[in-house]
Amino acid sequence: MPLHIVHHPAYDAQFDPAHRFPMSKYSLLMREIDALGLAHRGFIHAPALASRTLLSKAHDRLYVDQVCDLRVPETIEKEIGFQVDEKVSRRARYASMGSLMAGQLALEHGIACNTAGGSHHARRAHGAGFCTFNDVAVAACALLDQGRVERVLIVDLDVHQGDGTADIFRGEPRVFTFSMHAERNYPSRKIPSSLDIGLPDGMGDRAYLDQLNAVLPRLIEAGRPDLVFYNAGVDPHMDDRLGRMKMTDQGLEWRERTVIDFFRSRHIPLCGVIGGGYSYDAAAVAKRHVTLFRVGAEFSDG
Ligand SMILES: [Zn+2]
Repeated sequence: MPLHIVHHPAYDAQFDPAHRFPMSKYSLLMREIDALGLAHRGFIHAPALASRTLLSKAHDRLYVDQVCDLRVPETIEKEIGFQVDEKVSRRARYASMGSLMAGQLALEHGIACNTAGGSHHARRAHGAGFCTFNDVAVAACALLDQGRVERVLIVDLDVHQGDGTADIFRGEPRVFTFSMHAERNYPSRKIPSSLDIGLPDGMGDRAYLDQLNAVLPRLIEAGRPDLVFYNAGVDPHMDDRLGRMKMTDQGLEWRERTVIDFFRSRHIPLCGVIGGGYSYDAAAVAKRHVTLFRVGAEFSDG
């Protein structure tokens, strides 16, 4: 059965192609999904704009207003890495609602994916590291508030540590945060997740997948999740501009298969978000991200 996919054209805030953040990857990813025959009528969902009330479940209202009113202080914009203009602000709001929508679809259908999301450096009080709002945190808070889930597990395999997510859920016993990342990479000051695994630079497929296979059972035991959010950042790839790891296309495909199979075979709903992936060749990055959707479709019951 086809995979339920959440997408909005506004995910792409149309940066200059020379910008170090490959913004066009969101549009190119949807094109790749279409080209692979993974976009089916009735299975592509467009999110609405997230309200300030919804965003305030994971972020301070002051910061939410700053982003929505386009008056983010320059010091915070510097930490984010770009100016928060109308397009960036709207993109962050659509992506947050997109991850919530994908989470709801995952609860109904077992698995669903957002073509954006995984903005894991955004903290409660401000954005950072190309992340404006922490979409997964917004979605998890909303689903907990609605009583749709009692416990959430966040599996963050983006190559950078999930410091923003750890900040937002510090002291929240219903959310288990797991981050496996390159220890020496950004952010230099990490905020402890429920469980962190810091990997050495230059790690390849075999060692990475060994670590992953060893930790997955521990996550279920500790998290006892009703829903898993999976940040499938492709920046551990050997050609990634910011990753400093050595995973291949095949290694990343095997990673997606391992994670999705592990949770789906235990009937735990999984919501995939794309996370990071960096190159001046945005089309190459989009091709890496599409693997999540291709593998996800194999595990979809529709
Ligand atoms: Zn990253």
